[in-house]
Amino acid sequence: MSTAADAEVTAVLERYEPVVGLETHVELGTESKMFCGCATDFGADPNTQICPVCLGLPGALPVPNEKAIESTIRIGLMLHCSIAEVSRFSRKNYFYPDMPKNFQTSQYDDPLCADGYLDVVVDGESFRVDIERVHLEEDTGKTLHVGGSTGRIQGATYSLVDFNRAGIPLVEIVTRPIVGAGDKAPAVARAYATELREICRALGVSDVRMEQGSMRCDVNVSLNRPGEPWGTRTETKNVNSLRSIEQAVRGEIVRQAPLLDAGSRIHQETRHFHEDTGETTPGRSKEEATDYRYFPEPDLVPMAPDREWVARLRAELPEPPSARLARLQDEWGLTDKELASLVGAGALEPVLATIDAGAPHAAARKWWTGELARRANAAGVELERLAISPAQVAEVIGLVDSGRINDKLARQVVDGVLAGEGEPEQVMQARGLAVVSDAGAVGAAVDAAIAEHPDVAEKIRGGKLQAVGALVGAVMKATRGQADAGTARSLILERLGVG
Ligand code: ADP
Ligand code: MG
Ligand code: ZN
Repeated sequence: MSTAADAEVTAVLERYEPVVGLETHVELGTESKMFCGCATDFGADPNTQICPVCLGLPGALPVPNEKAIESTIRIGLMLHCSIAEVSRFSRKNYFYPDMPKNFQTSQYDDPLCADGYLDVVVDGESFRVDIERVHLEEDTGKTLHVGGSTGRIQGATYSLVDFNRAGIPLVEIVTRPIVGAGDKAPAVARAYATELREICRALGVSDVRMEQGSMRCDVNVSLNRPGEPWGTRTETKNVNSLRSIEQAVRGEIVRQAPLLDAGSRIHQETRHFHEDTGETTPGRSKEEATDYRYFPEPDLVPMAPDREWVARLRAELPEPPSARLARLQDEWGLTDKELASLVGAGALEPVLATIDAGAPHAAARKWWTGELARRANAAGVELERLAISPAQVAEVIGLVDSGRINDKLARQVVDGVLAGEGEPEQVMQARGLAVVSDAGAVGAAVDAAIAEHPDVAEKIRGGKLQAVGALVGAVMKATRGQADAGTARSLILERLGVG
């Protein structure tokens, strides 16, 4: 974000205090949908993962997905929530073309988890974000507007509905209003969403791919003058990246302030975020909860999560992602910047897996943030999608450490693995890449190098030992990097009668 935009926010916040609230939807990665056995694969042909239940056909009855309930409770536990003794589903009634039942099965007054918090750190300062609730609901289908250039309904010739997503379990995590963050509010919102995403990832409950919509955020923002009650909030819907969350908060702060300065009122409305400009435009005016005519779902019995089960889930929680990062930073002795670039490159998980496969951490980090990051970049793929596994990287590192190949040869081994030529050892054999330390084989190259560079040889004979590097270089070149540098060096000195 530009410093100009930052300066604008800071200027506004000399007169106003921002209040921010985030509602985050996370699509769970369960095998089947929330209330039926339909598959949930992303990208399947339209309307191939549907049944009478998720189409809302008459007489179809829901059966809750136990795994989804478990995942929701685990998210709630990570967020320090209390888990309801009794929880139930409710119907949230409204019409939408991609919601065939005409109501969404959601949770209203008895969510599975409530009253938690998540601490996030921004610029070394810790902020506590209070969590109001974590509840379970189902996703809607997807509408596709055909014709026209924008993909929006305006200008479209007709619209199609794909119900594959209808009924996929969705967890909604709602924060309490975040106050007191001042001009850090945009960054706190982003840090919160980042940590929440990492938590879901660590729990393995969702792939939390914001660009595919499996995690999306509604961003509520209001401004008030110091000492006055909170202002009216707007809600920017379905913000699809961490960066956009920060921008949406910033954008609303900067948009609302001049309106308030001029004595206008902010309308409680939803707004759309535009990725290209970073600005928001108005959507619909906001309905009240009472408009939805919530009532308890008559086709489902209340849930009473077994206390022992909850205790077991709590005992098996993973280490919180931020705590894990702090621990690794400490163990590996990294600066904040080194850690940030490791995480930013998406290298953390591959590095950890490579260490698990037996590699030392420094080498694992070097490979994933260096050579492999370059390959991924060049191929335009994420690091984790490179066609080399952490175990294979660990094997390459092992080959280097044992002296069977050097770094240069190792890069060629990696080429071979990426090209699908097999395991590192196989590639090394098949491509004939092993370091040659056999004195006979290296000896011929040494003799040739001395013959080709008599002047250098003379200097060495005269005691200028630093010059030996030039001859070692020539040997390496002649053997396409395969000679063992140490062997070459001692042979050269021996031949020239020094050392
Ligand atoms: P709705 O579904 O109507 O948007 P929710 O209660 O689910 O209502 O979520 C409202 C979100 O807005 C919460 O995250 C809440 O903390 C936040 N919020 C409430 N009041 C304000 C306010 N004045 N300014 C900013 N955010 C607010
Ligand atoms: Mg909401
Ligand atoms: Zn179904």
